[in-house]
Amino acid sequence: MTPYGLDVVIPCYNEEDALPVTLPRILSYLETLQSDPRLALGHWRVILVDDGSRDRTWRIIEDHGRAGRVVGLKLSRNFGHQNAMLAGLTYASADAIITMDCDLQDDINTIEAMLLSYQDGFDLVLGVRSSRASDTFFKKGTARLYYSLLTLFGVNIIEDHADYRLMSQRALRALLAHHEVNLFLRGIIPAIGFKTSIIPYVRQARELGCSKYTLGKMLALAIDGITSFSVLPLRMIALFGIAVFLVSSVTGLWVLVERFVHSATVVSGWASTMLPLLALGGLQILSIGILGEYIGKIYLETKRRPRFIVETTTGQTC
Ligand code: UDP
Ligand code: MG
Repeated sequence: MTPYGLDVVIPCYNEEDALPVTLPRILSYLETLQSDPRLALGHWRVILVDDGSRDRTWRIIEDHGRAGRVVGLKLSRNFGHQNAMLAGLTYASADAIITMDCDLQDDINTIEAMLLSYQDGFDLVLGVRSSRASDTFFKKGTARLYYSLLTLFGVNIIEDHADYRLMSQRALRALLAHHEVNLFLRGIIPAIGFKTSIIPYVRQARELGCSKYTLGKMLALAIDGITSFSVLPLRMIALFGIAVFLVSSVTGLWVLVERFVHSATVVSGWASTMLPLLALGGLQILSIGILGEYIGKIYLETKRRPRFIVETTTGQTC
C-alpha cells in the first residue's frame, strides 16, 4: 500500500499534569507505528488544541511545537471539548484522522488496529469501551440511564463509543459539512454513513490530573445529544395534550349531564380538585421547559456564531 498521512487531534483543557507525560508517550508510540512496514504509515502530526486553559498547557504545547511533529492551536477561551475537537479537525488535512483525549484513558495501542482497519478500506473506525470497570458507580449508572433515554427517543448512537475514532479524509469532510452550533459529534457519526468498523478496548482510570468534564458540562452534552437528534420530547407533549383534552372533554360532559339532566350540583372533594390541579400544573411547566429547550437551540443555531475562535497557532499548521 502507498504510504498515507495521519493527523491525531487532541483537545486539552488545563492538562499541565497529564500532557508532559502523555504527549511524549503518544509521540514515541506513533514513531514506532511508522517504523512498522505493515502499517505503511507515512507523514504524521499531532494537533493539540488548547481549549482556553488557565494553566501551563499552552506553554507545554509550544515547547513541543518547535520539535516539528506537533501542531498547536490555542483557542481564545474555553469552548468545550466538542468544539475544541472540531477546531482541531478543521486543521486536519491528512488521509486519516484520529481523535482522542490527552489523558490516555483510551488505550493508545488501539491505534494500530485502527490503522489496519483504515488500510482495509474502512472510512470510520470507532473505539468502543468493552468495559467500564474504571468508571465510578455514578458515571456507570448515569451512562446506562442516558443510553436508555437515547434509545427511547430514537437517537441512533453507538453505545460506549465516545470520541476515540479514526476517520478517513472523506468521512471528515462529511462530518465538517454539518454546521450545527449545538455539537454532539458522536451523534453525527452514525448519520454520515460510510463503511464503519468497531474496535473494542478497555478504558483505564485517569492517572494524571483530574476529569475536566464537570457535572454541568456532562449534563449540557447529554441534553445536546437528545435535543439535536430527536423531536420525540416535543411529540410527547402533543400526545399528552391530546390525552388531557380527551379526559377533560369526558369530564366536562359528565358535569353538564349532572347539572342539567340530574339537576345536581357537583360538589367534589378537596383531593379530587387539588390532585389534577397540581399534576397538570407540574406537567404544563415541564412541557414549557422542554419547548424552551428546543427554542433555545433554534435561537443559538440561527445566530450562527463561530463554534470556536483560534487565538494563535504553533508548528506546521498546513
Ligand atoms: N477537554 C476540553 N475542554 C473542556 C473539557 C475537556 O478540551 O472543556 C478535554 C480534556 O483536556 C481531555 C478531553 O477533553 O483531553 C476529555 O476530558 P476528560 O478526560 O476530563 O473527560 P472524562 O474522560 O473524565 O470524561
Ligand atoms: Mg478522560
